[in-house]
Amino acid sequence: MPLLEVRDLRTYYFTVAGVVKAVDGVSFTLERGEVLGLAGESGSGKSTIGFSLINLVPPPGRIVGGSIILDGVDITKMSESELRSKVRWKKVSMVFQGAMNALTPVYTIGYQIAEPLMYHLGMTKREALERAAELLEMVGLHRTMLNRYPHQLSGGQKQRVMIAMALALEPPLVIADEPTTALDVVVQAQILNLMKRLRREKNMSIIMISHDLSVIAEIADRVGVMYAGKLVELGTAEQVFNNPQHPYTRLLLKSIPKLRGPVDKLEYIPGTPPDLRNPPPGCRFHPRCPWRMDVCSREEPPLVEVEDGHYVACWLHAKR
Ligand code: ATP
Ligand code: SF4
Ligand code: MG
Repeated sequence: MPLLEVRDLRTYYFTVAGVVKAVDGVSFTLERGEVLGLAGESGSGKSTIGFSLINLVPPPGRIVGGSIILDGVDITKMSESELRSKVRWKKVSMVFQGAMNALTPVYTIGYQIAEPLMYHLGMTKREALERAAELLEMVGLHRTMLNRYPHQLSGGQKQRVMIAMALALEPPLVIADEPTTALDVVVQAQILNLMKRLRREKNMSIIMISHDLSVIAEIADRVGVMYAGKLVELGTAEQVFNNPQHPYTRLLLKSIPKLRGPVDKLEYIPGTPPDLRNPPPGCRFHPRCPWRMDVCSREEPPLVEVEDGHYVACWLHAKR
């Protein structure tokens, strides 16, 4: 049984201006110890998938359909108190996008890591602070950081603190939403190495969300590509990066400069991502797709397996 099985997940935001279909029928699985990268342009629904997987979608959003089976139980069916006592931080935790700026300025780092340990594990303050010190060391920070306040830390140090907090209860699944964005490349590499090591040592599963494909290429075993609330391609990193089959993935890969090898012409993807309150009918990518056909604007392409473990949602591959 996989650690995580997401089936036909739908998460919408009910705004006064209309219903935003941020995640609209997404399915995938994740094995223990596996790293899945989630890529896609800004606004494609990556963070919303992350919020859904800890069942903590911010209002006005909520999960409206599908199932999320984590370690054998469907967390979409659980009550808030069950989620709080049994699931969040214990089974799955999330390093939120931009979260390093969310540390509370008036409390020490030690207190902020220790507090959930006292709450969830019933540790005494002393025990929790000792564990917090160990966690800081695990993410490569000195234990004296316990007594510091957030403003006394660099961005990379704060991000490590957030990772330490996500790891505090050693959940089998960690969702990391853009954990290296806004950090310089050296710190970025340190954070990625840290996550690789934790995965190796703890057999942790990671969902790495990033719009930066080089970050995903660095760490992911499998890659999912999101477009406008849909998963349009899913496969091993090798399959998706070396043999992309969805037009959007192909254009996305051609839009980033290569450091090595012959210099290709950089392509850009014409047009803009759709308004998710009123997405285009059929294939959501059709208004921007150079390969579009008649059927594309009429019918939604199903996600089909094009080679072992490699799935693509495009009429160029599906049978009509
Ligand atoms: P980014 O790369 O910019 O972080 P993302 O892929 O994480 O983007 P999401 O943040 O999941 O995308 O947003 C998906 C869609 O849901 C977008 O159209 C966004 O405008 C919308 N959305 C996100 N949060 C809310 C909210 N609180 N209220 C209304 N709409 C929202
Ligand atoms: Fe392009 Fe059609 Fe494939 Fe969509 S289904 S990506 S419009 S070819
Ligand atoms: Mg996001």
